[in-house]
Amino acid sequence: MNAKLDRMDRLTGNEKVNGARVILDYKTGKANVGGWLGARPDEPQLPLYAVARDENAGGEVAAVAFARVKAGEMEFKGIAREEGLIPEVGTLVEQRSAAAKQYGSWEDLLSSWRRELEALGREFAAGEARVDPKDKRKLATCRYCEVKPLCRIYERYGAPADGDAGSGEPE
Ligand code: SF4
Repeated sequence: MNAKLDRMDRLTGNEKVNGARVILDYKTGKANVGGWLGARPDEPQLPLYAVARDENAGGEVAAVAFARVKAGEMEFKGIAREEGLIPEVGTLVEQRSAAAKQYGSWEDLLSSWRRELEALGREFAAGEARVDPKDKRKLATCRYCEVKPLCRIYERYGAPADGDAGSGEPE
């Protein structure tokens, strides 16, 4: 699989962070850190970079973040191993998402990403094609999918009520 990383910086400054990497993904739209968390992450791109860098290319990864480049809304949103690596990017304990509470540490988060992504990769390689949307309650996963009549998702789980279908954005 080929994937292109937007930006990776190598940190310098003190003994603790020297050589560690931060991975950045530029975004003009909504940046949802919660999409990296929990089982079957909705936005696995940055976790994938972090795990690949951590494992294959050497150089410990110490933070991942979206860099929002929309005019008037410039900001970083992400997760860092420790404070002060990227402006306004906090550690796991500072995340608002309830899903962040399941990780005991930054290392635990990296290990979890590795497990989730390896499992997804194995399923893909094995041709796994179950009709098994992640969000079975609101079916937000299926909102923009055009093959609903073929997979008969509404027959399995029922059509979401008006206003309950969500925005299509991961939660
Ligand atoms: S509607 Fe699309 S995304 Fe949802 S279960 Fe069916 S094939 Fe998968």
